[in-house]
Amino acid sequence: MAKLRASNSLLRGVEPYDPKYLPAQVGLNANETTFDVPAEVRRDVEEAIARVAFNRYPDPMANELRDAIAQWHGVTRDCVVCGNGGDELLFNLALAWGGEGNALLNVPPTFSVYAANARLTGTQTIDIPRRADFSIDEEAVIERASRGDVGMVVITSPNNPTGDLASLAFIERLLQATDALVLVDEAYMEFAPQGSSAAPLLASYDNLAILHTFSKAYRLAGARMGYLLASPAIVGELTKVRQPYSVDAVSQAIALQVVRHRDAFNEGIALVVAERQRLSEALAALPGITAYPSAANFLLVRFEQDAAEVWQRLYEQGVLVRDFSGNLLTSGCLRISVGTPEENDRLIAALQSILA
Ligand SMILES: *Cc1c(COP(=O)(O)O)cnc(C)c1O
Repeated sequence: MAKLRASNSLLRGVEPYDPKYLPAQVGLNANETTFDVPAEVRRDVEEAIARVAFNRYPDPMANELRDAIAQWHGVTRDCVVCGNGGDELLFNLALAWGGEGNALLNVPPTFSVYAANARLTGTQTIDIPRRADFSIDEEAVIERASRGDVGMVVITSPNNPTGDLASLAFIERLLQATDALVLVDEAYMEFAPQGSSAAPLLASYDNLAILHTFSKAYRLAGARMGYLLASPAIVGELTKVRQPYSVDAVSQAIALQVVRHRDAFNEGIALVVAERQRLSEALAALPGITAYPSAANFLLVRFEQDAAEVWQRLYEQGVLVRDFSGNLLTSGCLRISVGTPEENDRLIAALQSILA
């Protein structure tokens, strides 16, 4: 007879994260860059992998990569910590600044991982929902964050799935109003206008952490590498909770090449930004659609028609996007990643036929 003790009570009722991984000809569902790393980078990556010692443990802190990232951003090594994707760093932050007596202040609709991590770590989540146009209720966030019971505030900029940027004046006021860790998740910042990043505030605020990932603009979603820029105090606490070998030697080698060749990615980023503009204009011309402004590599689109049905009909035509219509705050919405010009043309043609 099968016998198994109940797992941790925090898992009761938890649904596993399901990104609805489906094969499709045109995959515009996960905010990846839909084309490969540049050929010359790929060559150097392959050479670097060939030199990796598979029999040896990797440098647990990935110091060579850490130094390259630190130099890139004009900070010192002790202000950088790498993770197995940004997602692992988000979990480590929940362990270190969550738990009993340390609420998470969340600003939905936003990335679902923050609230999921809070739940798994026994952290209360306090929601300050965005307004109907998805702008942040800045005064309400600042007021709530300053009451003393918040361990961490997460501001995603550009926000996923809504695409909007947070204002730097707001982030600075928030940093001043609270001793909570303020995480600014900049997973999509490379697609935003210059000057939008909170990075210049790092030098002045010990409670600021900025999350970056190689998964989106740097086209490494398959290799798993993210990093946090933060004060040495924050990095020090994270090194207590992180898994020592979570950042493997192969991913370290790949990411190091990408940092060294980072300028080679600018052309691809510029293409995505130009296509975002073209796609948004093409969508706005279709009947029954609102496309929200976006500083990221995706567009959130609201349909007057049943969005789940639009999703299904797109999928039947080989185009996979992400359905957010089941969430009250994004009812009627699909999120569409910006692809290559050909992929975007296919999406537009499919939507024209569906909405006609
Ligand atoms: C994609 C994403 C991340 C991190 O992704 P990884 O692949 O784990 O690096 C973090 N935050 C947001 C908002 C994202 O969309």
